[in-house]
Amino acid sequence: MMDYAAQMAFLEKAIQTGHLSHGYIFSGTESLAFAVTIAKKILCKQEHIGCDSCSSCLKINTGNHPDLFIIEPDGASIKNAQIEAFQRFTFIRPFESDYKVAIVSQAHLMTEHAQNRLLKVLEEPPGYMCLIFLTKQPERLLSTVVSRCQVLLFEEAEFQEEEAIAEQAVHFMKSVAERDAGRILEFAAYAKQDKARFDRFLNQVMLSARDLMIFKETGNIQLIHHEKFSILEERGALEHLSKVLTLKEILQLIEMIDDTQRKIRNNMNFDLSVDSMLLRCVKE
Ligand SMILES: [Zn+2]
Repeated sequence: MMDYAAQMAFLEKAIQTGHLSHGYIFSGTESLAFAVTIAKKILCKQEHIGCDSCSSCLKINTGNHPDLFIIEPDGASIKNAQIEAFQRFTFIRPFESDYKVAIVSQAHLMTEHAQNRLLKVLEEPPGYMCLIFLTKQPERLLSTVVSRCQVLLFEEAEFQEEEAIAEQAVHFMKSVAERDAGRILEFAAYAKQDKARFDRFLNQVMLSARDLMIFKETGNIQLIHHEKFSILEERGALEHLSKVLTLKEILQLIEMIDDTQRKIRNNMNFDLSVDSMLLRCVKE
């Protein structure tokens, strides 16, 4: 089992070296945002980095890239008409890029009939085709489909927990940026609930703060490492934070977190260390 960042790195390498498979099963995750981020890298015209500024990336951001096809369940299942539209999509050469990408969200909702039709594409895929299946129930996919794909395992529980922590980190930074004392002090309870989780939370805040600093200086999203910020929905938060926080404030925050982590690791009183950090955030 691997986490999100590790799978991202694995796929980036395959894209960069031209060793992309025609079929992937992302087993254990149903994050469409993640799959779209991968598709963006595959289709990007700037060395496949997902630059967010080439014509391909811009079309993905506005949801109308001719070489990206997303199948989402229509009600409780994936309908034959959707598969037919997909088949038409596969046989037309790419318009924009060297590749075409199709993402099947909740792939286990395909009927056996639908899977058999997709199998035809997987058996003789056009060279430009890359299919990504997202599913938390891979056992419901036909073994013939699975055997034609590379299966990447995602640890969903861990993934969700880390994502929740990253979300709290962004939430915390927003509270600091808005100087919202009430919300800042609420993090005392969050910290005391689970000390190990709080340490991971501080790591996430630290990562976010570093990304923010880089983004503020360069305006370049490619240099961002925080996986939460690298997926589509948190872009807005990053841009907002980079406007409201000064460089000096971000540096203070990094220093403060570093200081707090050091205190906790040196067995200083946990509650006191947390309280003093939060109070400093309120005051400064
Ligand atoms: Zn691009």
